[in-house]
Amino acid sequence: MKEIQTLVRLQNIETEIQRINKQMNALPAEIDEINDEVSIIEKHSSRLEPEISLKKERHTSLEHEIGEFTVLFTRNKERLRKIENNREFQALLKENEHISKSISELEEEGITLLEEVEKKEAKLNDLNSELKIKKKELKDKKKVSDKKIAELEPDIKDLEQRKNELMNDMPKDLIRNFNFLIKKLNKLAVASVSDGVCDACHMTLPPQKFNELIGDQKVMSCPSCHRFIYWEDHEDYNDFKEEL
Ligand SMILES: [Zn+2]
Repeated sequence: MKEIQTLVRLQNIETEIQRINKQMNALPAEIDEINDEVSIIEKHSSRLEPEISLKKERHTSLEHEIGEFTVLFTRNKERLRKIENNREFQALLKENEHISKSISELEEEGITLLEEVEKKEAKLNDLNSELKIKKKELKDKKKVSDKKIAELEPDIKDLEQRKNELMNDMPKDLIRNFNFLIKKLNKLAVASVSDGVCDACHMTLPPQKFNELIGDQKVMSCPSCHRFIYWEDHEDYNDFKEEL
């Protein structure tokens, strides 16, 4: 096989490896995305939980205070019945008015607290349901990803092996150049030329160079992007793509 043909084969294999790698990397990226969503939800709910218990604690202590006030109120009422001194009677009456007002205020606060707790608990419930869905999604995606990766890994291995075999039969400097171009030029080291134009950089080849390319199957480079070039319409390349 001519060297340029081997280079074309190597490029085709390289492109296929890149395509498969892209597929393999896309799945973990999706998983990362869901993982991020899960941590945001967990952060949210972990903030809500202590807020809810604080409000519940406050509500319990409110009920306690209301209980104490109620006892005092009832005791005062008993005493009012027995008091004969008018000033004392008025003072105690006033005290019970205060107590009654305090009880109302505390009860008001208690209602507000319960409403807030209810709202936050509903929010927490929503978050927990969302979390459950996301975690299930994550598990499914991981399963699909593992399966897909397990399927694709042998393909990659096979392609790498074929690449190495081809490379072993090639002059070292050509392979060095090929690898350099792959690295530097967006994973494309070998470009086809059609109608005298390089398909990678879209520059027109000098007519003499293009004639040389058509006539002679030697290793040539695009004068503009320096990639190896080959004339795609040559019958030798007809079956190249189907090889993969
Ligand atoms: Zn070019």
